[in-house]
Amino acid sequence: MYTCINCGIEVEELYRKYSPSVLKVLKCSNCGDLADKYIEYDPVIVLVDLVLLEKPAYRHLLYNSNFQSYWKLMVVLLLGESFRAWSLFKNYKISQDLDNDENYIQSNKFDSERSFYILLAHTALSLSAFVLVVITSTEIRWVIMGLRPHKYKISDLFHALIIGGCAKLLGLLGVIWQYVAPELFYILIHGYTMLCLLTTYSVICESGRTGSLIGLSSGLVAYNYVSSLISWFPLIITNTTVTDNVT
Ligand SMILES: [Zn+2]
Repeated sequence: MYTCINCGIEVEELYRKYSPSVLKVLKCSNCGDLADKYIEYDPVIVLVDLVLLEKPAYRHLLYNSNFQSYWKLMVVLLLGESFRAWSLFKNYKISQDLDNDENYIQSNKFDSERSFYILLAHTALSLSAFVLVVITSTEIRWVIMGLRPHKYKISDLFHALIIGGCAKLLGLLGVIWQYVAPELFYILIHGYTMLCLLTTYSVICESGRTGSLIGLSSGLVAYNYVSSLISWFPLIITNTTVTDNVT
């Protein structure tokens, strides 16, 4: 089954092929619009509409397209977010070590690489907590409110969270261009990521912005809690190395 990108109702077919070169996009019986206009569009136009947070474009990607490489996106997201955090951490350490001698800075290069793998585990744990809590709270919501959509699947919500979370990759631009105010830039990226997540969540759960915000808020609390709980990992490793060098 496919999905009408305008009203979200399930349709049996999106187009009919009359000959190898003649194809007709079918209309939705519920809303009367074309069930999925994007099957005739260039992927770049679909991408532009995704960036503009158009719900029909997200319905096309999540329900009607052949895109299945969600695990690849997840790996790219993990590596990108970890690298961004590692770059900030590394610059902070270098500015701290400017007064130290050459040998100490050389020894810190290995320490810095080790920190990347720790930050990778840190990011994986934080994002896993976010996804697990959002899925769990959504299931609880269906049990309590009883408004579970007919075509809702946990795997679709998982895919939607990965797609929405990929907006965080824009944070890598700050690493490349070295902004004067990286904190402000990252706040803007965080806000845009929230809008992407709200759009993808509302597409899968068929809820409004308020309902989606409630569904995602518990995940954000879990994400921030896990992030703050294990943020001392890289610091402990660094402090151990400092102590070893002194003794
Ligand atoms: Zn429709």
